[in-house]
Amino acid sequence: MKVLLVHAHPEPASLNGFLRDLAVETLQGGQHQVRVSDLYAMNFPAALGPADVQGPRVDATHFKAQAEQKQALAQGSFAPEIKAEQEKLRWCDHLILQFPIYWFSMPAIMKGWVDRVFTTGFAYGGGGTMWYENGGLKGRRALVSMTTGAAAPAFAADGIHGDIDRILWPIHNGIMHFCGFQVLRPEIFYGVSRIDAEARAAMIERYRRRLVGLEREQPLYFHRLADFGADHRLKPEVTPLTGFQYRG
Ligand SMILES: Cc1cc2nc3c(=O)[nH]c(=O)nc-3n(C[C@H](O)[C@H](O)[C@H](O)COP(=O)(O)OP(=O)(O)OC[C@H]3O[C@@H](n4cnc5c(N)ncnc54)[C@H](O)[C@@H]3O)c2cc1C
Repeated sequence: MKVLLVHAHPEPASLNGFLRDLAVETLQGGQHQVRVSDLYAMNFPAALGPADVQGPRVDATHFKAQAEQKQALAQGSFAPEIKAEQEKLRWCDHLILQFPIYWFSMPAIMKGWVDRVFTTGFAYGGGGTMWYENGGLKGRRALVSMTTGAAAPAFAADGIHGDIDRILWPIHNGIMHFCGFQVLRPEIFYGVSRIDAEARAAMIERYRRRLVGLEREQPLYFHRLADFGADHRLKPEVTPLTGFQYRG
């Protein structure tokens, strides 16, 4: 595999930092190639804006992100950090996002990486033809590896924070599946500061073992484009996946 690991944690010596290193070492030990984008270490600028494109603008007086992205892709005039991250995405066949959950989502620096790097014409686009299984990054697989502050029961379907699958739906469906990735079951390290060292060690070992066999894993199931009609709703004859049970 050619793995791009994108990591977002402000403290290199955090548990997330350890999980980043564990993934790199384990995958390299399995003869896989690994590249890392450590977003805090790179001081990756997270805010999408006019600085994303260099050279002549489509409209220098009114910044319209997708029009500028389209032109920048065609002209090779993206800011260097965007070009570099897109090159890594073209190269990889597996993407791992390693992060602590912040506000029921990924840290802002990682969301900014998505905003700026997953541009139209590259990751999705074509007026609704380059999306989902035809997304610009198809042929690749993606895995969320995430730590949480809250304990596992709080993320149960009837838990106080709500079903973890619903929390992850914007990342799994809205970013990964939308852009063509096949999505693997998330690896979630629940309540990492609440549990004892033994339980943490067991979680870490579970992830290490999983990484060894990652290549052979079946992705989660999502509805196919053909399941939807022209109105983008499920065709009447298609049995809907109930609720957020999108797991195959
Ligand atoms: C802005 C913000 C928003 C947040 N929003 C949410 C939210 O919506 N939901 C939620 O649940 N949580 C939330 N949190 C909490 C956050 O997700 C957790 O603090 C985070 O996931 C913990 O991961 P960490 O890498 O920082 O752990 P650390 O604090 O680095 O470590 C956790 C524990 O693991 C131990 N440890 C560290 N390294 C190792 C190692 N190598 N081996 C074994 N043990 C180790 C540490 O001693 C510690 O006990 C939020 C936090 C912030 C700052």
